[in-house]
Amino acid sequence: IKIPILAITGTNGKSSTAHYTQQLLQSAGKKAFLGGNFGIPLSDLVLLQDEFDVAVVEVSSYQLEGAQYFKPTACALLNLTPDHLARHLNMETYAACKRRIFEHCTIEDVVITNTDERLFPSPNHRHWILGQDLGATLNKEHLTLKSEIDQRQMNCTDVPLIGAHNYWNVAAAALLCHAIGIPLADCDVTRLQPLEHRLEPIRNLNGVQWVNDSKATNVEATEA
Ligand code: ADP
Repeated sequence: IKIPILAITGTNGKSSTAHYTQQLLQSAGKKAFLGGNFGIPLSDLVLLQDEFDVAVVEVSSYQLEGAQYFKPTACALLNLTPDHLARHLNMETYAACKRRIFEHCTIEDVVITNTDERLFPSPNHRHWILGQDLGATLNKEHLTLKSEIDQRQMNCTDVPLIGAHNYWNVAAAALLCHAIGIPLADCDVTRLQPLEHRLEPIRNLNGVQWVNDSKATNVEATEA
């Protein structure tokens, strides 16, 4: 695969973030593939890549466990909480699997994580952190994004999604787009749509908002 790969892993928010990344890329005029652990298998992209400028790839820990040459241009390791431990046995081996996402990244490639030090790459990686100044910060009203060369503040109310966790997902998505040269100002967050089954608004009835969150299959997702 010769086109840039933006890869996303983590315990929760992979599909949502991958989907937001594709939407932001498309709004910035890029032809973006979306696949991997979500939708079209990555192997199909080998024959399809002439149709795309960039690939957004959701990656699971199981896939990373066996991957030998996978090298994204930028990657996001969103979070790590206990899940799939029947296979990974403990959090150390689970974290080690997830960290394989940046194993082949070079000094120019961008690694995005949250503030969980178990996920951090080595100090000679470019590292943007969700929860720190270089990366993204969130308060009640604003989401602020910052790289070495660009900066943007947006109102949370401009992001049409439910839940603070989604602001972090959007931050990761916009930073991934920025990692391949898209100015942060060109990421149109105002028209993002949630994926079905992930805090998907269904309807308002008698003053009660109903959402479909049937993809919440672990404690942290349900809590979020
Ligand atoms: P994944 O692909 O990692 O399973 P999804 O985007 O499909 O993640 O979302 C799965 C569940 O996790 C949904 O219930 C969703 O509301 C919740 N979720 C999404 N993003 C996050 C996040 N950043 N932190 C915690 N929960 C999240």
